[in-house]
Amino acid sequence: MIMSQEGFRLLQRECINSGLCYECGLCASVCPAKAIELKMYDWGRNPELTGRCTDEACTRCYDVCAAKLVPVSAMEKRFFGRGRRMDTVEKVGGVCRFVGTGCAVDPEIREIGVSGGVATSLMIFALEKGYVDGCVLAGWDAEKPWLAKAYVATSKKDVIACSGSKYQPHPQLLGIREAYEMGLKKIAVSATPCHAQSLRKMMMNEDFADISGIIRLISCNFCAAHWALAGTKWLLKTWLGVDMEAVREMNYRTGAFPGTMRVRTKDGRIHEKAFVRSGGVAQLGRFTPEECRICLEKVGYAGDVVFGDTWCHPTLPPNFDLFPPTEAEMQADPRLREAAAKGLSAIVARSEFGLKLLEECRDAGRIRMFANTGEETEKFLTGVASEKPTWYGPWIDARKHRGMPVREYI
Ligand SMILES: Cc1cc2nc3c(=O)[nH]c(=O)nc-3n(C[C@H](O)[C@H](O)[C@H](O)COP(=O)(O)OP(=O)(O)OC[C@H]3O[C@@H](n4cnc5c(N)ncnc54)[C@H](O)[C@@H]3O)c2cc1C
Ligand code: SF4
Ligand code: SF4
Ligand code: SF4
Repeated sequence: MIMSQEGFRLLQRECINSGLCYECGLCASVCPAKAIELKMYDWGRNPELTGRCTDEACTRCYDVCAAKLVPVSAMEKRFFGRGRRMDTVEKVGGVCRFVGTGCAVDPEIREIGVSGGVATSLMIFALEKGYVDGCVLAGWDAEKPWLAKAYVATSKKDVIACSGSKYQPHPQLLGIREAYEMGLKKIAVSATPCHAQSLRKMMMNEDFADISGIIRLISCNFCAAHWALAGTKWLLKTWLGVDMEAVREMNYRTGAFPGTMRVRTKDGRIHEKAFVRSGGVAQLGRFTPEECRICLEKVGYAGDVVFGDTWCHPTLPPNFDLFPPTEAEMQADPRLREAAAKGLSAIVARSEFGLKLLEECRDAGRIRMFANTGEETEKFLTGVASEKPTWYGPWIDARKHRGMPVREYI
């Protein structure tokens, strides 16, 4: 007989204290006793038992967590209708029904989107067409506007307020419980690749059918890391010289691609620096937490749709701010004009529904979509997917050598 709290102790031993937890918050979301809290530290969040387990046999928090074992193959067959074609770029890039780039048509969304604004456009379209009645997105904490927080968006205005990438760990999947408790019946969820894997694991387990049954769409992002909160604090205090208590609004990347970190303080002043070109993102890299250093997932294997930047794209490297294309080049390839103007979202559609939604969104005139050539897709996805094994492979080898657990992908 499992003793009271043993379910949580199992989670703690196998996933949390082993350094695998990626702070998604799903264990807390599904806990019937609401006994788990994600406590905040400078290095990130830690799931801790702050209440009492009500059912002695309960292991729900452990059952839902994919931090230790990621069932990629089963997940792909179940949600994308087939496994990867291993003799193609899908071997590293995951199941792909479409790979290309795109951008929002609405100038407001184009302006505020991190790259092309396609992620924001698609969420608004899904809401307006009634495919979903809410979207779990990443917004900012009202009290601490430098702190990312899950937000359930139910209107275009809400979705726009949540645009932009939040490069810090936060328990995004607490938003699932919030959406469920709000009585929403069909939701879209924006999630980093690891968080999306937890969602898929939950969706494959009948015990969670009530809460997981409301998920209609998972929108994922390419992901180098979610950098520890200490990194954001460092950027604010040391890099931008801003007192955190004075922050009213913050955006890691805004304006022309690849973006400017911009902070508005309570006195109305704007503090900004080029996020990529002045080294902000490189500084954040120093704050890569251990859960990301053992992560081999960069391309969002679990998303119905996945969005990224075009860093590894062979035709559209995002350096047009430094080396603008000529007018003749832009006339020959319309993607170059869009990329040079503001940047493009890289797009991968994995499920039939994800592709259908993107195509409807395009046909309704909300986004522009450009398919890659086969050769571009091959080079692009190979480039993106090879980064993690290069960066983090040695950490994983070290942990294995010392008998420490690593994340397994099966
Ligand atoms: C932590 C993180 C790491 C990333 N690393 C890379 C990378 O290494 N390489 C790369 O090419 N691209 C990376 N991206 C993706 C990139 O930053 C953009 O999100 C992507 O290009 C989509 O751009 P967009 O203009 O279409 O998005 P937008 O239209 O601006 O919409 C972004 C959407 O993502 C949601 N969101 C933001 N942050 C989070 C979060 N932490 N968790 C869940 N949802 C969130 C927002 O609420 C919004 O709905 C990363 C994103 C994140 C959040
Ligand atoms: S990865 Fe998510 S589900 Fe697993 S322990 Fe961490 S917060 Fe909980
Ligand atoms: S889900 Fe909640 S009640 Fe169940 S074992 Fe975990 S902490 Fe305890
Ligand atoms: S690097 Fe991996 S573990 Fe870290 S946030 Fe991204 S998907 Fe999650």
